[in-house]
Amino acid sequence: MSKQQPIIIIGGGLTGVTTLYELVSRDIPAILIDSESAVAQGTSYANGGVLHPSLPDPWNAPNIAPVLLASLFDRNAPIKLHLAQVPALLGWGLQFLRNSVLSRHLAITQANFDLANYSTRQTDALRQLLGLQFEDAAPGTLKIFRNPQEREAALRLADFLAPHGLSHQVLDRDALLKREPSVANAATPISGALLFPDDRVGNARLFCARLADHAIARGGEIRYATTAQQLLVKNGQLAGVRLAEEDLFGQVVICAGVGAPKLAAPLGVKLPIRPAKGYSITLKADELTAVQPVHPLADASLHIAVTPLGQHLRVLGMAEFIGMDRQLDPHRLTMLRQFFEQLLPDVGAQVDWQGAENWCGLRPMSSDGRPFIGPTPIQGLWLNCGHGHLGWTKAVGSARLLADQIAGRKPEINPAPFAYEKRQRLSIFA
Ligand SMILES: Cc1cc2nc3c(=O)[nH]c(=O)nc-3n(C[C@H](O)[C@H](O)[C@H](O)COP(=O)(O)OP(=O)(O)OC[C@H]3O[C@@H](n4cnc5c(N)ncnc54)[C@H](O)[C@@H]3O)c2cc1C
Repeated sequence: MSKQQPIIIIGGGLTGVTTLYELVSRDIPAILIDSESAVAQGTSYANGGVLHPSLPDPWNAPNIAPVLLASLFDRNAPIKLHLAQVPALLGWGLQFLRNSVLSRHLAITQANFDLANYSTRQTDALRQLLGLQFEDAAPGTLKIFRNPQEREAALRLADFLAPHGLSHQVLDRDALLKREPSVANAATPISGALLFPDDRVGNARLFCARLADHAIARGGEIRYATTAQQLLVKNGQLAGVRLAEEDLFGQVVICAGVGAPKLAAPLGVKLPIRPAKGYSITLKADELTAVQPVHPLADASLHIAVTPLGQHLRVLGMAEFIGMDRQLDPHRLTMLRQFFEQLLPDVGAQVDWQGAENWCGLRPMSSDGRPFIGPTPIQGLWLNCGHGHLGWTKAVGSARLLADQIAGRKPEINPAPFAYEKRQRLSIFA
C-alpha cells in the first residue's frame, strides 16, 4: 500500500495522533493537519488523565431529563444546560433524551465498556512496546461514596459490567483508609469506595507528544497551523481537503473533536456531536507534606474527580452545555476548588492555588454517548470522533479499530456499535 496517496487526518488531539500512529504502523501513509501549533492543544490538553473502562455509561442516564431541566435554574448544577443554548440543542437534545431509555442506555454502556477495556489494554501494550513515558501509573480508580444511595448506584453499574470483564472490589471505610489515607479528614465523611483495579492514569498531552514522535519516525507527517476549510468531493467520492492556500488530495479521517460536525455537514454526513464544557485545575504537589492521594478519586454524583499525575494533582469535572464557549468561568473554578478542599482539606490547605493551571475544554459529546468510528456513505471519508467524556480511555482502541477497517483487516472488536450508517437507522448493534 506504500505508493498510495497519504490519508489526511484532520485534528491532532488524542484521536488524530493515535490514528496517525496506527495507520503508519500498518504501512499506510498518512498526514495529520491541525490548526494549532502542537498536538493536543484542544480537549486533549489537560483532561482528567484517567483511562477508566469503569466509567463507560453515557451521561444521558434514564433520569437525565429532570436533571437537565432543573439545571436551567441552578448555577451550581454539575451538569448544566444554559437557557440560551436550548434552541441550538433542540434536535440533538431530543436524540439525547431518546437514547436515555434504559434498554438503549445499557446496550450502549456495554458497547462503550468493550471499546474502553480493549483500548486501555492496547494503550498499555503501546506503552511497553515503545517505552513511552507519560506520567503513567496503574493505581486503579476509587469511586467514593458518602451514603447508601451513592453506593448502590456505583454497585449497580459495576455489577452490570462484571460479567463483561470489569473487575471491582467494595471497600468499607476502614479498608478505604488503609489504601487511601488522604481522604480521612474529608469534610463530609466518605463511607467507602469501589476500587477498579484495572483503571490507569496518564498525561494525555504528553502521550500525544511522545506518540506523535514515533509516528513521524515511521514516516507520518504533521502540519501545524493548518486548518481544513472544506472537504472536497468529486464524482460522489471524497477527493481531499481545501486549505487556505492549497488543496490536499487523498482520503480523509475526521478527528476534529467538536469541530467535526461543521466539516461533515456540507456533505450530508450529519454528526450529532455537541460541546460539553469541562474544567480542570492542575496543582503542583511535589513539595507538599500532607498525605496525598495515590488513586484517582471519582465522585460520580458530582461529576468531579481528583487525579494524581506525576508531580501534580488535578481536580476536574463539570459539564456545561454552553456552545463553543471556551472562557474560564471563575464560579466553576471556585466550585472545583471547594470540592478539593472539602475532600482533601490537609492537602488543600498547602497547595498553591495562585500558581495553579486553570483550564477548560469541550468534550465532543454524541447524542447517544458512543463515538463514530469507521466509514461514511461518502467513499474515502472516515470518522473517528465524538468520544465525549472518554476520549483518552478510548483513543488507542478507536484508532486501531479504524485503522484495521481502512487496511481491510478484521478488527479485534466489533465495529458495529460505532458505525455511522447503523446509527442513522437507529438499529442497535446489528
Ligand atoms: C475536563 C475534562 C476531563 C476529561 N477527563 C477525561 C478522562 O479522565 N478520561 C478520558 O478518557 N477522557 C476524558 N476527557 C475527554 C477527552 O479529553 C476527550 O474525549 C478527548 O480529548 C477528545 O479528543 P479529540 O481528539 O476527539 O478532540 P481534541 O483533543 O479537541 O482534538 C481535536 C483537534 O482538531 C483540531 N481541529 C478541529 N477542526 C479543525 C480543522 N477544521 N482543521 C484543522 N484542525 C482542526 C483542533 O485544533 C484540535 O486540536 C475529559 C474531557 C474534559 C473536558
